[in-house]
Amino acid sequence: TEEVLRNTEKLVFAGQVAVSIAHEVRNPLTTVKGLLQLAHRDNNLRHYDLMMSELERANLIVGEFMILGKPQATVFKLEDCGGILEEVLQLFEIQTELNDIEITRTLEQSATIRCDRNQIKQVFLNILKNAMEALPYGGHIHVRLDVWEGYQRITFTDNGTGMTEDVLSRIVEPFHTTKPEGNGLGMMIVHRILETHDGTMTIRSEAGKGTSVEIGLPIQDM
Ligand code: ADP
Ligand code: MG
Repeated sequence: TEEVLRNTEKLVFAGQVAVSIAHEVRNPLTTVKGLLQLAHRDNNLRHYDLMMSELERANLIVGEFMILGKPQATVFKLEDCGGILEEVLQLFEIQTELNDIEITRTLEQSATIRCDRNQIKQVFLNILKNAMEALPYGGHIHVRLDVWEGYQRITFTDNGTGMTEDVLSRIVEPFHTTKPEGNGLGMMIVHRILETHDGTMTIRSEAGKGTSVEIGLPIQDM
């Protein structure tokens, strides 16, 4: 009965996840549909940039959940951590420009880690997304890559809204969100991926000041 119960819980969870994905992806798609109808009626393709950014948003949302769709497909390989980080930062270029956000980097030292590349991308993506969402009126995100006690350390610091102690203590809880359009899954996924990678996470935050999320991933000796 224990296993049956656990499977039922999994099904309920998967259902809730599916609903929140559907909801989040429908919003940008509805916007693009409306703008395309206008363009067709007027035979004039205005709002091209807005459509592209909305489609990119839908893409990011779907990307955020790829890990939940196939959790068994973990493929561990030796990877350069800095390369993965750079790839994810590029995904955010359009969005940061549109939202008046500056991302700076201190690339002290990149190391080789044994990881599932897509899952680590997911970790960086979810953390950066939160940092951006904590900066509704623009601001600054700093990304630092260095090595500390056998770990590749990646630190994301934003000068955004910050969190209360209560929000911080519940941050990896599924469906706990403070955002009207949030789903409260991002940091749960981060936490789960870090567990499978023997990684660490330390979060410091102060309401009104900002947040820093420090990730540690064991360095692979070559
Ligand atoms: P979601 O982003 O959908 O709300 P997450 O699991 O990614 O879900 O985050 C949970 C909550 O943690 C957010 O709703 C927010 O309140 C808080 N949070 C996470 N990262 C930050 C951050 N960088 N700055 C401020 N609050 C954050
Ligand atoms: Mg999030």
